[in-house]
Amino acid sequence: MKVMVADKIAADGIKKLKDGGFEVLSVWEEPKEKLPELIKDCEALIVRSATKATKELIDAAPKLKVIGRAGVGLDNVDAAHAKTRNIKVVNTPGATSISVAELAVGLTLAVSRKVALTDRGTRKGEWPKKAGEGIEIFGKSVGLIGLGRIGRETAKRFRAMGATVRYYDVIRPLPYDEKDWGIEFRPLDELLAMSDIISIHVPMTPETKGLLDKERVAKIKKGAILVNTSRGGIVDEAALAEALRSGQLYGAALDVFETEPLKSSPLFELDNVVLTPHVGAQTAEGQLRAGVEIAELVIKELKALGK
Ligand code: NAD
Repeated sequence: MKVMVADKIAADGIKKLKDGGFEVLSVWEEPKEKLPELIKDCEALIVRSATKATKELIDAAPKLKVIGRAGVGLDNVDAAHAKTRNIKVVNTPGATSISVAELAVGLTLAVSRKVALTDRGTRKGEWPKKAGEGIEIFGKSVGLIGLGRIGRETAKRFRAMGATVRYYDVIRPLPYDEKDWGIEFRPLDELLAMSDIISIHVPMTPETKGLLDKERVAKIKKGAILVNTSRGGIVDEAALAEALRSGQLYGAALDVFETEPLKSSPLFELDNVVLTPHVGAQTAEGQLRAGVEIAELVIKELKALGK
């Protein structure tokens, strides 16, 4: 059976496929418009983010049985169309949770200790020691919006730093779980009003789109830090820029944006914001885990079909 790997995954993942007896068609260096021709006789397709598994690509492969996405969401896979063709879609939701949680904490520290600002000043020979005075995480109140895989990993890390962690989620774990984890539930508006640090970990859904709109941004505690490593569009970027400019917020960090790649933004003018190019899952370990897991899942599905 033939597996088309359309985006580069970890070499260990490719090895797993080959060791499993599958023919691997590695095409990540090919132009995307050639993919419909190349996928013709493949039984499985593996993508990461760059390749879109569109209806057109799916229908160019009459024998396609499995689509594997090495990553969390399925934004780049037409899963609804795959379903009409009885094609199984699998992904690796937990492979990069630790990577994203570490970035959320790292970005909080970058803001609280003004790392980007002082780095820029130091390179210019300004030695901005006074301007570099920051704040500690220890003793602060952290509010997590979303307590799924990434939210829980983030909670552990903030607790280890001596912060009090509270959260808001549509699903509330059992009260004794909360006790075990040392965290407490709060309604969203209450969480925004009481937290010194807010970190967002919900998926993009019709309910979460614009969840932190202008009105909600105004409810955030004065002097708080806001970090978003989930999806762009959950926070209103213009309202956030205004809150940073007015001094309502101490600072903010964003890894995700309404429009990516981000080419221009009112945030570019502000010193109290740290911006990264959607690198939450971009770690050697996260990508290794995602590549190996997706290969294992695709092998499992193909073998089950072959029986
Ligand atoms: P998850 O599904 O494990 O957890 C999401 C949590 O959000 C769940 O507990 C769910 O109940 C909650 N939720 C859903 N809708 C909600 C709503 N309307 N209000 C409140 N809570 C709601 O997902 P995860 O693995 O923790 O990932 C979270 C998000 O992080 C992903 O959906 C993705 O958008 C983002 N992500 C970003 C990167 C990056 O590179 N920056 C990488 C991976 C994931």
